[in-house]
Amino acid sequence: MRDLFDETKTIMKKYGIKANKDLGQNFLINNEVVENIIKSSDVSKEDLIIEIGPGLGTLTKRLLENAGKVICIELDKKMIKILNDRFGDYSNFEIINDDVLKVDLNKIIKENLNNNIKKAKIVANLPYYITTPIIMKLLEDKLDIDSIVVMIQKEVAERLIETPGGKNTGAITHTIFYYCESEKVMEVPNSSFIPEPEVTSEVIKMKLRKKPAVELDNPKVMFMIIKSAFMQRRKTLLNSLTNAQVFTNKQEGLEILKKLNLEENVRAENLKLEDYANIAREIEK
Ligand code: SAM
Repeated sequence: MRDLFDETKTIMKKYGIKANKDLGQNFLINNEVVENIIKSSDVSKEDLIIEIGPGLGTLTKRLLENAGKVICIELDKKMIKILNDRFGDYSNFEIINDDVLKVDLNKIIKENLNNNIKKAKIVANLPYYITTPIIMKLLEDKLDIDSIVVMIQKEVAERLIETPGGKNTGAITHTIFYYCESEKVMEVPNSSFIPEPEVTSEVIKMKLRKKPAVELDNPKVMFMIIKSAFMQRRKTLLNSLTNAQVFTNKQEGLEILKKLNLEENVRAENLKLEDYANIAREIEK
């Protein structure tokens, strides 16, 4: 830990960097965490790694040593100078100075996969203020990627890796489960960063499924139903979906629930993804 602490402090001092809270800058100084991220991403010379928010380059350095190519996307101009100074000599290093939410990741991946670089993977210690939009983008853009290994806030991580129907289930749990198999890699104490964040962190891995967890002609309908159900999660599913006009009326709702063997008073968090898929199939009839 001491080495990375010293290195980070030295770089910050040399370039006059103060962590920018608005950009979610918490720089990793725990070597064990860095190595676990590299290991769980299973980085090889056949991989294209897209690193979101490289910051001062702590993860980037280890990624460059292990991957075929590393493309970093960083919003903060000050970091770009540092990263170019540190890694400009690596032939497998590329940097894009932009907001990751605005970048066409599909294009980048298509342009960089070839006979030597066969798989694309996402690796990041994410800026926590936009965790959900970033993860939703990575999934909804239907990128040709193998896996996503990210450090995020523990509380969010628990929702993302929950099995649908478990106690931490939220609408996003279903989205993750639809696209990925997910798992916890490790919990990360606040002391692993400069400056220390106010929340505990967790590294998680999401491995993209070859086929989504449920088969539907129009998954958008199912996601609309899930969103409506969780918007009023304290109500029964019957009431929230009737209010949201997913069910034309209560009677229709009752009939659908009965047909699907779901209790009349079931709530949003009790359902499995397959249950939502079945409701979507009934609605679409
Ligand atoms: N990877 C570094 C590390 O582990 O020490 C820094 C991680 S820090 C938690 C998040 C990084 O994301 C910061 O460098 C920040 O400038 C960058 N960032 C914030 N918003 C961004 C955005 N919209 N697009 C790209 N990078 C962003």
